[in-house]
Amino acid sequence: MPESLQKLVELISYLPWIGEKTATKLAFFLLKANPSFIRDLSDRISRVQSDIRECPVCFSLTDRSDRPCAICEDHSRDGRSLCVVEDYLDLVSIERLGIYKGRYHVLGGSVSPMHGRMPSDLHMKELFERVEKDGFEELILATNPNIEGEATSLYIKENVKTPSIRITRLSRGLPNAGFIEYADDLTLINAFRGRG
Ligand SMILES: [Zn+2]
Repeated sequence: MPESLQKLVELISYLPWIGEKTATKLAFFLLKANPSFIRDLSDRISRVQSDIRECPVCFSLTDRSDRPCAICEDHSRDGRSLCVVEDYLDLVSIERLGIYKGRYHVLGGSVSPMHGRMPSDLHMKELFERVEKDGFEELILATNPNIEGEATSLYIKENVKTPSIRITRLSRGLPNAGFIEYADDLTLINAFRGRG
């Protein structure tokens, strides 16, 4: 194989979930692809890190500079409900279902002393500030159904100082030690609807 093609295979195989065989197929696909597709793809890849930033309100991802994300600025959404997720991909999974129309808060991970992740490493302080000042009526804890996710939920429950707020947790329909990100849609819909 020509060296530059070999180098491309090598780079592609650094991507997660991609073995050398798939990397080789992808490299050959790129070799024969439409040049405008290649330009568009390489342009997007080179800009992704500078174009995407965290929303200053909910910490999801946005390409708007110095402005909250589209969900935070969508006034048709229900401002009484706040759904707390660990990561942006969890938000994406829930949004895809189309059954939740409230607001989000992305923590940026879970509490895990074993891995050196403490509440102060997450967007917890900002969460408690929002809960205190934005008048939410329901706080949905959509952290993952594993030890870290449970610990994260517990920490939030113990530290929310607004007695009037209803705190709910997704139902146990999710697979044990599973991740919201990987749950199928129906399971996630049931977990969401059965929250309590
Ligand atoms: Zn936002």
